[in-house]
Amino acid sequence: MSKLILVLNCGSSSLKGAVLNTENSEVLLSCLGEKLGLPDAYITFKVDGQKEKVDLSAQPDHTGAVGAMLDKLKAMGLDSQVGAIGHRVVSGGELYSDSVLINDDVIAAIEKCIPLAPLHNPANLLGIRAAQNIFEGLPNVAVFDTAFHQTMPEHAYTYAVPRKLYRDLGLRRYGFHGTSYRFVSEEAARFLGKDVHNLRLVVAHLGNGASVAAIKNGQSVDTSMGITPLEGLVMGTRAGDIDASVYEFLADNLNLSVKEITNLLNKQSGLLGISELSSDCRTIEEESLNGHAGAILALEIFSYRLAKYVASMAVAAGGIDALVFTGGIGENSDIIRTKVLNYCEFLGMNVDAEANLAARFGNAGIITTADSKVVSVVIPTNEELMIAQDTARLSGL
Ligand code: ADP
Repeated sequence: MSKLILVLNCGSSSLKGAVLNTENSEVLLSCLGEKLGLPDAYITFKVDGQKEKVDLSAQPDHTGAVGAMLDKLKAMGLDSQVGAIGHRVVSGGELYSDSVLINDDVIAAIEKCIPLAPLHNPANLLGIRAAQNIFEGLPNVAVFDTAFHQTMPEHAYTYAVPRKLYRDLGLRRYGFHGTSYRFVSEEAARFLGKDVHNLRLVVAHLGNGASVAAIKNGQSVDTSMGITPLEGLVMGTRAGDIDASVYEFLADNLNLSVKEITNLLNKQSGLLGISELSSDCRTIEEESLNGHAGAILALEIFSYRLAKYVASMAVAAGGIDALVFTGGIGENSDIIRTKVLNYCEFLGMNVDAEANLAARFGNAGIITTADSKVVSVVIPTNEELMIAQDTARLSGL
């Protein structure tokens, strides 16, 4: 059997892991470590659909979680087959436009990018250090969320603020979800029987965080998220685009601090804020069908904002050959897809109701009618596989 790749995606108190065989895309083990840093930390493994919860109180941190993964792999007889470790790293700033084999310089560069991802990069570094300690001697690869968007032209990534802020602080748009966009754009081209290098795609990655990107001939030319993931679409709990003066308005009227307003816009807004119900799209859809006014409005605003962005991304790509939906919402919500396609009918997309209903739960599919000028397609994302493939490539496996 070929070498296996361990993929790690670390948050400050969580760790998502998977062990993949890149030859057949098989996931042999997946896991979720939670409450890392707290005394009652634990990790849940999933093998062949069976779950097993393991207590991490003896070492309730990222190293403890990675150590438990090694124990699990030993128990499965797979430990000696792991050949490399791939890490999701949120921000590589302007330093990386591709994934990279990790050495001391790379670690220093990820540290340097902490101001651009103050919550994520430190957590990613915890995962890297834990993997280096536990899986001694194995190559580690960093796969950056921002790398794919480094092809954006200057006029797309530059904010209309004093240029000095870019020069001195790196204040510009970086975008996120790059690993998903790279995977999904290649898959979409394959699915449609086209060459990704000769294709204008608008891709909507709609999960708890949501963004949209213009991908022209295989390269990202614009995306909706900015220096932080707050810009752009309405999301589960994020407001997306908003008049920046809201900061002063809320500070003056509610006496809120900058941090409190940032928290309000990131954690209490979006679908949750509008519906006053939930950030979860499934709940919003169910309640909208029950006539809940907030849920109905939340779905409409989410879809309308997304449709406006689809049209603007078509400008960025110099036209649109296909609109691609991915992420938990994009892959499953026929309701939101229908609304977006109806708003975008003028672009030449007509929804095929039956095909749209069928494209869910991991099924890819074209969801526009055969006579549509522009095709829309659902493509499930697989960021772990993309990370594993990059890791295998860069570590020479
Ligand atoms: P993350 O950004 O955390 O990776 P996901 O890509 O898993 O998130 O997407 C989570 C979102 O997908 C949630 O809002 C969830 O409600 C939504 N979702 C998942 N399944 C469905 C479904 N069957 N119908 C509508 N929305 C769904």
